[in-house]
Amino acid sequence: MSSIEEEQEEQEKQEKQQSVLVLGGGVCGIQVALDLADMGFKVYLVEKKPSIGGHMAQLDKTFPTLDCSACILTPKMVDVARHPNIELLTYSEVLAVSRASKSFEVTILKKSRYVNEDKCTGCGICAQYCPIEVPNEFDQGIGIRKAIYVPFPQAIPLIYTIDKENCIKCGLCERMCEAEAIDHNQQPMKITVTVGSIVVAVGFQLFDAKNKQEYGYGRYDNVITGLDFERLVNAAGPTGGHLARLSDAKIPKKIAFIQCVGSRDEKSGNLNCSRVCCMYAIKQAILAKEHIPDADIHVFYMDIRAYGKGFEEFYTRAKEEFNVKFVRGAVSEIVEIPETKNLIVRVEDTETGELLEKEFDMVVLSVGLTPPSDSEAIENILGISKGEDGFFSSPDPQIFTVDTNIGGIFIAGTAEGPKDIPDSVAQASAAAMKASVALVQLTQEEKHVEK
Ligand SMILES: Cc1cc2nc3c(=O)[nH]c(=O)nc-3n(C[C@H](O)[C@H](O)[C@H](O)COP(=O)(O)OP(=O)(O)OC[C@H]3O[C@@H](n4cnc5c(N)ncnc54)[C@H](O)[C@@H]3O)c2cc1C
Repeated sequence: MSSIEEEQEEQEKQEKQQSVLVLGGGVCGIQVALDLADMGFKVYLVEKKPSIGGHMAQLDKTFPTLDCSACILTPKMVDVARHPNIELLTYSEVLAVSRASKSFEVTILKKSRYVNEDKCTGCGICAQYCPIEVPNEFDQGIGIRKAIYVPFPQAIPLIYTIDKENCIKCGLCERMCEAEAIDHNQQPMKITVTVGSIVVAVGFQLFDAKNKQEYGYGRYDNVITGLDFERLVNAAGPTGGHLARLSDAKIPKKIAFIQCVGSRDEKSGNLNCSRVCCMYAIKQAILAKEHIPDADIHVFYMDIRAYGKGFEEFYTRAKEEFNVKFVRGAVSEIVEIPETKNLIVRVEDTETGELLEKEFDMVVLSVGLTPPSDSEAIENILGISKGEDGFFSSPDPQIFTVDTNIGGIFIAGTAEGPKDIPDSVAQASAAAMKASVALVQLTQEEKHVEK
């Protein structure tokens, strides 16, 4: 081998060791990717959905400051797309990981969008002409999208995807696309990358409210979840930010929020506190009052966990400034009145012992955070352990929350356990720092061996 070839080989080896795979493109994965890329490492950011953003992209405002969620998140998403050290692999999933010496060889499946990524300009003409309308997952199924779609207007990358399950191959998108980007024959692609470290930031999934049958989610139109509420009050959401009932589009004047739905509940199989529901319900109660100032709002709770900076003040503001009524009690049942689609909430006020039956126009279930949907597959592929709660877990969670049982693999954000955005981002930076240390150590060890 010539000295030039040897040099090239050495350079390639170093590049691989200086590369990181970040799994999950929510706010946490985005922060991990940006921190590591800013340090000079090469980052492969793998997101299974067509766009990065995660759950934060679906939120309207954030507690306790009521800042616009998209205004915080979108610039970070744009930074990811523009960063020279980040290779963004959206609509992609990790299929296999094997150890290659001290590095990891990762096989990634890039699913077909049936749209050429290099040609699509994101103009949206294809979707304007597409005749097929299906419920939009991003809007929690409340709004509609076309069979060729971007999940939301600020999607990164702004590249359309054809949903083959619903596409009728009418050919209209193909005819209207001036960029000639539609490719119905596009095949999925397997990519292999070698990295020195992996950070898992695959987030959470929401507790399925249909499992609490006594609350009627999915059966009663006006029983919605907290995430449905976020889309309803969002100006870019399915109602243009108009807080209305799903049964008849009427403005709800009496709204109930029910806490701990699928959290701290043995019957639901989820004993942990989801940490964000108290604050997001308080936020939503305030937002409801901002939308409908004369609304009568009740929050039914076990106890309010306002543990963070500015949280207690936010809670007090909800009570004093917005006159939100907090009732301590467990809700046993919700019953719909068929004629009006109003809802009777049956609850025991645990402070007075009184059994209450109250009528509301709309009920919002504050559903909890449960382990990510792919946690088992990821556990099998990466070999990292989960805790009893089903979230990924460090062997030493008291002090090393981002470590895993496998050297070089780290966890961060809600994949590790329920937490809010500031905590997810802080843990992202911690994981990025740990990954960077692992990468530097790897290079040093190699150099030591070579000597
Ligand atoms: C109704 C509601 C309101 C909320 N309001 C607030 C608020 O006001 N303030 C606040 O601080 N927090 C709030 N939160 C909490 C906030 O949503 C989370 O803290 C935050 O989204 C966590 O970010 P994350 O990146 O860890 O996870 P996620 O947002 O879940 O992102 C994970 C990403 O990983 C991707 N992914 C999953 N599996 C894979 C895989 N196998 N391969 C590749 N990618 C994968 C997902 O598609 C997703 O993009 C709220 C939560 C809810 C439910």
